[in-house]
Amino acid sequence: MKCVVCGKISFNPICSRCFFEIKITPTMRVIEGVSIYSFYNYSDVSILIKSKYYVFGSRILKILSAKASDYFFNSHLKSSLWKETNLYGIGIDDCVRSYYSHTAVILKEFCRYGFKPDYGKLQAKNNLQYAGKSLQYRRQNPKNLFFKGSHSKNFFIIDDIITTGTTMSEAIREVEKSGSRVFFCIALCNAEN
Ligand SMILES: [Zn+2]
Repeated sequence: MKCVVCGKISFNPICSRCFFEIKITPTMRVIEGVSIYSFYNYSDVSILIKSKYYVFGSRILKILSAKASDYFFNSHLKSSLWKETNLYGIGIDDCVRSYYSHTAVILKEFCRYGFKPDYGKLQAKNNLQYAGKSLQYRRQNPKNLFFKGSHSKNFFIIDDIITTGTTMSEAIREVEKSGSRVFFCIALCNAEN
């Protein structure tokens, strides 16, 4: 096959040279008292995750998630986050709508280091697309996330893109309302600005 970035013949959808050159831009912000970690500027990787490559979009997303999770686990190996052994991961609205679930692909990669994935536990009752919508619109039209998971577990939450943080905020509140605790959140790409 051809590398989707440079077009050269490659064994993987992204050749090793282009994979190495994908820029990690780590950011952290706090929402609802929880740290949200992000790894790519959306503008740097948007071409990779757009519909143009949709047929194997899940493979591209998996590659980006693997690179981000390696970075995350290496830089937090000694942190207190990792002392929590019974940590479960939840993907926001990880149901399959078009070919595959974005957040489930990311979640699987972030569970390679010993955490357990808890699939299908946080679903949106409102199937809204926020892309291009204002903060006011997002606030007035929450996704109505519904948590179906266990009420006394420790979780981390995963989403593909964070912009204003409205969805992440809703997710944290919904999970914590059940009596569970959210230790941290992961948003693969940061689209703020
Ligand atoms: Zn390449």
